[in-house]
Amino acid sequence: MITHDVTIVGAGPVGLATAIFARNAGLSVQVLDGGAIDGDKACGEGLMPGTAPLLAELGIDPPGHALEGVVYHQGSTRVEHSFPEKPGRGVRRTELRDALVQRAHDGGVLIERAKYVSLTQDAHSATVTTDSGHYITSRYVIGCDGLHSSVAADLGVVKKPPRGAKRYGLRQHFAIAPWSSNIEVFYSSNAEVYITPVSSDTVGVAALGPKGVNLDSAIASIPALHAKLAGAQPASTLRGAGPFPHKARTQRIGRVLLVGDSGGYVDAITGEGLRVGFAQAKAAIEALSKDAPGTYPLAWKRVTREFRILTKGLVALASSPLRSSIVPLAHAIPGLFGVIVNRLAR
Ligand SMILES: Cc1cc2nc3c(=O)[nH]c(=O)nc-3n(C[C@H](O)[C@H](O)[C@H](O)COP(=O)(O)OP(=O)(O)OC[C@H]3O[C@@H](n4cnc5c(N)ncnc54)[C@H](O)[C@@H]3O)c2cc1C
Repeated sequence: MITHDVTIVGAGPVGLATAIFARNAGLSVQVLDGGAIDGDKACGEGLMPGTAPLLAELGIDPPGHALEGVVYHQGSTRVEHSFPEKPGRGVRRTELRDALVQRAHDGGVLIERAKYVSLTQDAHSATVTTDSGHYITSRYVIGCDGLHSSVAADLGVVKKPPRGAKRYGLRQHFAIAPWSSNIEVFYSSNAEVYITPVSSDTVGVAALGPKGVNLDSAIASIPALHAKLAGAQPASTLRGAGPFPHKARTQRIGRVLLVGDSGGYVDAITGEGLRVGFAQAKAAIEALSKDAPGTYPLAWKRVTREFRILTKGLVALASSPLRSSIVPLAHAIPGLFGVIVNRLAR
């Protein structure tokens, strides 16, 4: 028996945002999540300026630290560009989740602590089975279960990534007053290390790189960063994520849609997963509100296109022989660097 309009698998930021957009559109929603209760995860935690209008539509204003722009460092070269109009915000995942959960609860969203196990669908409905043995039947199911999406796997849409292209991410927080209101990106020989201020006394440190990337070694290999963090105590446990990219050949099969990392994720190099995930959430609910799930894959392509192109380009550059000259190049061609940062600000 159909009990509601949409079942959302995964109460990460994108799943919760999807639930809020669905309630705002008058759809009844049930969310299930089988992960850690605090929702913490390896993430750089930078909300790019373009996320602000989406947060306003979601009705949340999570606490954090203003992000005025981006500074890239490589060796002794430094290049800086401010976001042109409005700042971004560094927000702890736990704060973001609390704000989204509160808003979802206020809107009447049911969140069940249960793990998705399997899926069936017919012409009128889709049913998920949970690890507690429940069958939940709704008009639509949305898989928001992240990079290693079981929903995407069960739909049979996951594409094998190209050989040798895999990257991984790590993050840990340190108790230190931010020394800058910018996202600072340090290029070492094999990792990119991102510093994001998330409060007046905490910075997040994230590293991206090939298999085996190690946060301590990455920091130690960048003397300027090592000196800044010397003596700062870890303020969270080390977390990792990957591998990426994760590719799906489509983001919809029948009555089941994929939103957020589950539907495809290139890399964290541009720090845009949340903005792009929230935009997908909005597009998916627009499609379902019109009972037109078939329009979603095209909308997905539209809202993710620039992210996919820019991210693939930057990852290719970071993996090429030009890697050691990226920041000097940006310094030599400030106009091009400005175009990239301005794009991130949208
Ligand atoms: C190192 C790193 C740095 C990053 N930096 C940034 C950044 O600075 N800015 C930015 O915007 N993005 C950044 N990203 C990307 C961002 O973290 C992701 O795009 C974002 O978390 C995607 O959200 P999501 O809700 O789709 O997936 P997730 O956050 O992964 O959430 C998935 C949810 O699904 C649940 N789940 C999984 N399987 C099941 C199941 N079987 N049953 C029930 N529930 C399930 C999980 O418990 C989880 O709650 C970064 C990523 C990495 C790895």
